[in-house]
Amino acid sequence: MQMNTESPPAQDESSLGFFGQVNRMFGNAAEQTEHPLGVLYQIRACDNIIRFEFPIKRDDGTIQVIRGYRAEHSHHKKPTKGGIRYAPNVNVDEVMALSALMSYKCAIVDVPFGGAKGGVCIDARNYSQDELERITRRYTFELSRKDFIGPGTDVPAPDYGTGEREMSWIMDTMHQIGDDDLNSLACVTGKPVGQGGVRGRTEATGRGVYYGIREACSFEEDMQELGLAPGLENKDIVVQGLGNVGYHAAKILEEEGGANIVGIAEIEGAIHDPTGLSVDDVVAHREETGSILDFPGAEDIETSAKALELPCDILIPAALEGVITTDNAPRIQASIVAEAANGPVTSQADDILQEKGVLMIPDVYLNAGGVTVSYFEWLRNLSHVRHGRMSRRFEERNAERILRAVDELTAEDFDEDLLETLIEQVGFGASERDLVNSGLEDTMAQAYTEIRDVRKEKNVDTRTAAFVSAINKIAQSYQQMGIFP
Ligand code: GLU
Repeated sequence: MQMNTESPPAQDESSLGFFGQVNRMFGNAAEQTEHPLGVLYQIRACDNIIRFEFPIKRDDGTIQVIRGYRAEHSHHKKPTKGGIRYAPNVNVDEVMALSALMSYKCAIVDVPFGGAKGGVCIDARNYSQDELERITRRYTFELSRKDFIGPGTDVPAPDYGTGEREMSWIMDTMHQIGDDDLNSLACVTGKPVGQGGVRGRTEATGRGVYYGIREACSFEEDMQELGLAPGLENKDIVVQGLGNVGYHAAKILEEEGGANIVGIAEIEGAIHDPTGLSVDDVVAHREETGSILDFPGAEDIETSAKALELPCDILIPAALEGVITTDNAPRIQASIVAEAANGPVTSQADDILQEKGVLMIPDVYLNAGGVTVSYFEWLRNLSHVRHGRMSRRFEERNAERILRAVDELTAEDFDEDLLETLIEQVGFGASERDLVNSGLEDTMAQAYTEIRDVRKEKNVDTRTAAFVSAINKIAQSYQQMGIFP
């Protein structure tokens, strides 16, 4: 769709850039909708972007100037929401693209936020903990001065290269600089549980990836088209990236889904074992030896990139963007590509994979588990109470009362031991983790059904269907605000 004459003309994947790639996918979906062009332009545009440079003192006493960004893609809902990544190649194009993906992602899973993303241009491995703390605090200070952070403004979260530790520095900095708003805990998510975090956030993106793949594989008709049996049991899976997302996704797929993890790729190379790898054993081996290579019983693959081409049912790129391009897409052997990372497949590579009949489970849907559980954390911070705190004991007693009533009503009495066992098994109130996981499972299942319905109705691929769903929901928000007809 020629949406904007100022857009670059037909482009190869490198000249298009990451934001251009996302907009190409957006354009494919926009063609399937009937919104006026002006509305589509507004949805596609990146509203605010800030770049700043600040000095920090290194441990050796030298001064280094650090560059940081924050992009707020869409304010159709407030606050805006999205992670902060620490990576050497962070740039304006990347944060704009990632913030756009956040807007679409939130819309797809009905999380009421606009999209944002931040980044700091550093390789976190080259900095000490003290240096990282100075960088994080200063970055937060800059965000705050420019009004790019706050519980109702813009709420960061972890992303590549950041985690709980950085989120708690961010929160503490906000408190130190005098944010004594009652809701100030909600200014960042992904915090440690003891500091306002929610149980289940750390593994949420990986767990969401598991629910999403399980959902996609549950439709017999769709699996038949790929020549696969429905369900996850014994599906051969290759995972690229054993970071927070890849690790939890692979572990849950193995342990709860009964899938066979046949390949794992990391920076140092990859390993392959068609009989199946134990994710935790591989992690333990890496901790011991510094590398996943030379894992007992597995074959070493020389590069992480080569592992993407291994034979398998499901390929999960869970590291960085742009790892499947027009160069390697023809050699991908998987029947399903499940995008746990943001933007791992270029738009042109996606065309090639679709032509090969590969089922793409797109990032905008599949890795939305992180922001979904961030939403639950934000709600917890605003309500100032742990999820389930008021209802847990009540639910427990209720379940016990029901069981005792059934016992009394049935002609034959349960024996007391059986009754006690039943009470133990079913008579428990939901913990915060149970509630978070069940909310996440429901969100991922609902969203997949919606996307699949659009896919069937419009006869388009899954990614286009996901974008159509996002565009429709964002357009509806603007309409409800009375901004557009
Ligand atoms: N960084 C994650 C993402 O890309 C999570 C964002 C959030 O929780 O706000 O989806």
